[in-house]
Amino acid sequence: MINPDLCDLTISVLHNKIKNREIKFSDIIFSVIKRVKSEDQKINGYISIFEEDAINQAVDLDKTIKNFEQLKPLSGIPIAVKDNICVKDKLTTCGSKILANFISPYDATAVAKLKVAGAIIIGKTNLDEFAMGSSTETSYFGPTSNPIDNRYVPGGSSGGSAAVVKYSGAIGALGSDTGGSVRHPAAFCGVAGLKPTYGRVSRYGLVAFASSLDCVGALGKTAEDTAIIFNAIAGYDEMDATTINTPVKNISVDSNAIKKYTIGIPKEVFAEGLDGRIAKVIEDTINNLRKRCRNVKEVSLPNTKYAVATYYLICMAEASSNLARYDGVKYGLRVSSSELKDLYAQTRDEGFNTEVKRRILIGTYGLSKGYYDEYYGTAQKVRNLIKQDFDQAFKDCDVIITPTTPVLPFKLGEQISDPLAMYLGDIFTTPANLAGITAISVPAPLTIDNFPVGIQITGPALGEEQILNTAKAIEEINE
Ligand code: GLN
Repeated sequence: MINPDLCDLTISVLHNKIKNREIKFSDIIFSVIKRVKSEDQKINGYISIFEEDAINQAVDLDKTIKNFEQLKPLSGIPIAVKDNICVKDKLTTCGSKILANFISPYDATAVAKLKVAGAIIIGKTNLDEFAMGSSTETSYFGPTSNPIDNRYVPGGSSGGSAAVVKYSGAIGALGSDTGGSVRHPAAFCGVAGLKPTYGRVSRYGLVAFASSLDCVGALGKTAEDTAIIFNAIAGYDEMDATTINTPVKNISVDSNAIKKYTIGIPKEVFAEGLDGRIAKVIEDTINNLRKRCRNVKEVSLPNTKYAVATYYLICMAEASSNLARYDGVKYGLRVSSSELKDLYAQTRDEGFNTEVKRRILIGTYGLSKGYYDEYYGTAQKVRNLIKQDFDQAFKDCDVIITPTTPVLPFKLGEQISDPLAMYLGDIFTTPANLAGITAISVPAPLTIDNFPVGIQITGPALGEEQILNTAKAIEEINE
């Protein structure tokens, strides 16, 4: 008998059920696919779904796996992949018309590693075009809705990944995080989202947006589930020269470890622009943690007030260069013309949406002769100051707690014509990308009007273990 609710369980629970021979691999897949069929029409979390492939793989596992003691950590677990991360022989659209028909000839390293760890790739999830946005409304394939209330956005840009994890259309998912795109939708949908240290997970096969900021991250129902995915995808890769060449320690999440931690709270956090109700939830959560951790201490990150401006200058500059490759010749869409220059121009005009064009134009301007020092150069200097703020703060604490977003989920269409308002929602997430450090968002113990509040825990470079342990302690508050 198929248990229809298996899809609502976590990776570790499913793993144990398989190990104890309580369920079959195919039971999990059938449960997940059934859920996708009942929910995804409303949510639009998937751009493509690999039903047949996934079922075949699960049935195959049922036939072939004999040694259940030595199951791999993700054996038979259905994982969704954001559609800007390449999966061999499958569409990789980046939510854009320009790549609407692009089939990837290879696997991203993170995807290859998931497969080695036993995962079944179940489909590709929706995103803001080229991962530029915070609402998953700008995809060529239509907006994604928040499973908590379909009239609201799921956050972004990995909104498809967060939404499918929330409604259990996948057990876990990969996302990408350039300025918050894993943590932001995790906060809006009430799931866990981990952005690893820059270079800890290979970017090979992640379609480049802003190369000095881009990270592949993990979404799951719990912090522990993101840790299991992270353990599988982390590590040095000769295909990505920016990966860190130090051994990866397998993290097993332990909330008791926080008794040794000092938690830092940046004094700049409770400032203008933060929804007072969110501030209250964060304060309550910190008060709860006080009982378990070593100490709670005020720290200062004075330059993070410049993070949004700095981030947008850098990401637009890098995007303008990275997206130059979509010229109608090498990949995807081509709008034919007798003149080569017109072919480039018309393909790009038809293939990119307004937000992507805006960023290419501003980014090109910021890199142009005469303005480079003033814009890109200055942004790089401020980026360094932000990094120094964190270096200083982590001398006094082990992890830093802030909200993930300053506002709660908003309605579809509400902010789409106000890009600045959308950009300001990234105030708490962009600093970690600029500093190259790690951060996770998990839902706070309390909700506001049914909506989750994301709590962000930031750690130093390679501090994934301490932020995951703290995240688990937060998850345990109301248990
Ligand atoms: N919201 C941010 C932006 O629009 C972050 C995007 C991301 O992390 N991919 O650029």
